[in-house]
Amino acid sequence: MKPTNPTNPSKPKTALVTGGAGFIGSHVVERLVQRGIKTVVLDDLSVGKKENLPEASELVIGDICDPLVVKSVLDGVDVVFHLAARVSIRDSFRGLVEDAGTNVMGTVNLLKHIEETGVKKFIYASSMATYGDSNYLPIDEKHPLDPTSPYGISKLAGEKYVLCSCRHHGIEPVILRYFNTYGPRQTQTPYVGVITIFIHKLLNEEDLPIFGTGSQVRDFINVEDVAEATLLAMDYQGATNTFNVGTGTGTDINTLSEILKDAMNKSVRLNYLSEQPGEPSDSIADISLAKRELGFTPRWSLREKLPEVVEWNIRKQTQ
Ligand code: NAD
Repeated sequence: MKPTNPTNPSKPKTALVTGGAGFIGSHVVERLVQRGIKTVVLDDLSVGKKENLPEASELVIGDICDPLVVKSVLDGVDVVFHLAARVSIRDSFRGLVEDAGTNVMGTVNLLKHIEETGVKKFIYASSMATYGDSNYLPIDEKHPLDPTSPYGISKLAGEKYVLCSCRHHGIEPVILRYFNTYGPRQTQTPYVGVITIFIHKLLNEEDLPIFGTGSQVRDFINVEDVAEATLLAMDYQGATNTFNVGTGTGTDINTLSEILKDAMNKSVRLNYLSEQPGEPSDSIADISLAKRELGFTPRWSLREKLPEVVEWNIRKQTQ
């Protein structure tokens, strides 16, 4: 079917990317700069890194919860990409207040100061965590929203604030529910990004920790595809406002471990541990809506992209 993504007649000149020095944000910034769009990044560098950014972008180091900083960076901006967040499901249980503080109040602060600016479009990085446990697969955008973690709740609250405030101010909102994203520049922590975690364990010849049976399925999408979908959302002129961003293909954690062990030629053991609270059950995205409306087609399979991601992590570790 022909995508209904008509070309945006008013090409944005200036973009603000919150969390732009982070993993997904920096790939979005790269594409904006390539398209000749002046790009301002607001990031507190709590996780993100200056070195992730292309020289042509402008970095403002600051907190999305700071009214003065937010006011100043919104000046002259046409389109906002809001990616700054605390992104760990597990940390969100321990850091309930900090999670809501950044993800909910940071979003609210941004929306509060958007009034009386020239912002025409607001793109919000949401998450498959807003769905919680799946009632059916693949998960479409009409699936019940019943998050199982404080992180999922905070991302869902963000969605509601974005939709409500944008309608109020006459700004076009787009909500993108990203599924499990992997790729170069993913921050290495023990809590976020199973692929990056496994690669580092394998590089150190350590056993792979698997929470639960390992039969849980995830929709792993390469960060280049996520960035592409995000830019398509900027160009989108239709009326739909919420899209899944995944591949539509699921891989269980046991299979992922074997693929990675083979790719890296390692023979470590799988260490089965008890399930972690808040991790949703199986998840695979139904991406028909993004395909039809945004003209989005994921380009990369896990097997095609893993070697590049492994190589990037090896280079990073030896630097
Ligand atoms: P990331 O941690 O690499 O990026 C988040 C960025 O926000 C970091 O650069 C961090 O320094 C910055 N930040 C955090 N708190 C801030 C604050 N108070 N003020 C200013 N900057 C702040 O994570 P990511 O994986 O790139 O995630 C980007 C977005 O995508 C997030 O909104 C996340 O919820 C969403 N998302 C990610 C995934 C995934 O698999 N990575 C899946 C679903 C949704």
